[in-house]
Amino acid sequence: MQKATVVVIGGGATGVGILRDLCMRGIDAVLVEQQDLAYGTSSRYHGLLHSGGRYAVKDAEAGKECIEENTILRKIGRHCVEQTEGFFVRTPLDPEDFEGKWLEACKNVGIPTIPISVEEARRLEPNLSPKIQAVYRVPDAAIDGFRMVWQNVASARKYGGRVMTYTTVVGIEQTNGEVTGITVRNTLSGVVTKIACEFVVSAAGSWAGEIAHLAGIDVNVQPDRGTLVAFNHRITSRIVNRLRPASDGDIFVPHGSITILGTTSASVKNPDDNVPTAKEVVELLKIGEALFEDIHSYRMLRAFAGTRPLYSADPNAKGRGASRGFVTLDHAHDGLKGFISVVGGKFTTYRLMAEKVTDLVCQYLNNKTACRTAEEPLVEDASPALISKAKQYFPAYGTELAASRLGSEGLEKVVKRMQDNPEKCQLLCECENVTMAEVEEAAADETSHMLSDVRRKTRMGMGTCQGAFCTFRSVGAVDAAGLAWGKDTQGLFKEFLQARWKGIRPILWGNVMRETQLTRGIYEGTLNINGAISDEGK
Ligand SMILES: Cc1cc2nc3c(=O)[nH]c(=O)nc-3n(C[C@H](O)[C@H](O)[C@H](O)COP(=O)(O)OP(=O)(O)OC[C@H]3O[C@@H](n4cnc5c(N)ncnc54)[C@H](O)[C@@H]3O)c2cc1C
Repeated sequence: MQKATVVVIGGGATGVGILRDLCMRGIDAVLVEQQDLAYGTSSRYHGLLHSGGRYAVKDAEAGKECIEENTILRKIGRHCVEQTEGFFVRTPLDPEDFEGKWLEACKNVGIPTIPISVEEARRLEPNLSPKIQAVYRVPDAAIDGFRMVWQNVASARKYGGRVMTYTTVVGIEQTNGEVTGITVRNTLSGVVTKIACEFVVSAAGSWAGEIAHLAGIDVNVQPDRGTLVAFNHRITSRIVNRLRPASDGDIFVPHGSITILGTTSASVKNPDDNVPTAKEVVELLKIGEALFEDIHSYRMLRAFAGTRPLYSADPNAKGRGASRGFVTLDHAHDGLKGFISVVGGKFTTYRLMAEKVTDLVCQYLNNKTACRTAEEPLVEDASPALISKAKQYFPAYGTELAASRLGSEGLEKVVKRMQDNPEKCQLLCECENVTMAEVEEAAADETSHMLSDVRRKTRMGMGTCQGAFCTFRSVGAVDAAGLAWGKDTQGLFKEFLQARWKGIRPILWGNVMRETQLTRGIYEGTLNINGAISDEGK
């Protein structure tokens, strides 16, 4: 039977942050995740590293946490953060009297706001509507959720951290009011095993209520679904927020070569309720017109949805009415020692959430090691020597991108593969600049079991073509690498393309429809993979 001092449940930002912090303080810990890392809400969000401006009026504490963590994450996770800055923009549809309240609240919380003229704002962001009335600059930034999760895991592993993906927690074992372990089921094989431990930390986000139920405890997490739309190019280089009380469709976030618009808000019963609808997309586009009048002419890539893990001690508080702050619940107070839940919060505050939980575990273990996650970078920078070596193998523009995606150690391994076999320098995914060597490296990681796992690690298939051209190349590479999970190539194709289709279906009109017919022609027509573009795997 496996053993650990602490089992962390949930492979989102919060869980991997906790794993890293525990291991950095010398505590033996294993993380279990029912699917792949960053499968949950940590990859189904805007990717806004909040300055706190969005929360300052309604929840000063959440606003303060955001600005403090924003400063820290830029430093420790600089390869995951794009320093875009942000605008708060008032349109003719927004209440004028909110502006004064907002400025006052930001000042109280310590969020810098710099007014600029509408002309200057439109010079910097020419796509902004000419009707806008006031603009302020704030220190918002864009954050890559997948990369942040993976770099936390890379760091935790260096400190002895273990990760088990496709491992679903189905039971929490207890004796005389104390945790003794968990029961897990392998999500792929169905095999049930146990892991002995002294502490179970639930960082299961929207699923935290379900995990608590396994121990017979009530935790009021209200999943709140939000749908987002990804566009094919940078509509804006800065994050753009509507200057009004938080509402639907009021944030645009640029990432690399795309822009994300979000979001809706609807209370749902099931945290897995993450299939976006065409109606939600149409609504978002309509609201988005107030900031970008030409929004209907921009090409969409896909729609996606996630569930916010909103927590409230008041079971009647829902949606935007519930707090965006977080709480650490020590269930010793509910009669079960060794069981802790951390619920609520935001991606921006994941590190702080991890610090608070780890402090609590350390208190029980009488471990006096101080938290270092606010100072120590997630991954080491690649040295100039390694970068210049890598430049011999990567396409000129791809080296820096790969270096920030992989960190020093990862880049070294990928460069070695290229050195050993120059064929591996080929780009399999042109949209996101992913080489065969990088796909192979990601596929060989013990957490990879299907092509979507490789996508989450590399971004392969997330760009303009949405897998039309890189899927067959990647399946070929995985098959040729001789990995155990790479043998059923028909299955690989279907899993990957059906997952892409899920986000394309709700935006299926105009050019997206035409492009989908091309993809269907390649896979269902030429390669004869029936059902590749279908709802089968929904
Ligand atoms: C539409 C939307 C937009 C958002 N925008 C932003 C934003 O721009 N900026 C920001 O800071 N925050 C944003 N948020 C909030 C933020 O995304 C979340 O607060 C954060 O990602 C939650 O991370 P987490 O690790 O706590 O949960 P998750 O990432 O959901 O991780 C929980 C994990 O637990 C796993 N799990 C569940 N049950 C089990 C089980 N039985 N066994 C094993 N594993 C299990 C799940 O599979 C999941 O991977 C947004 C949220 C939404 C929904």
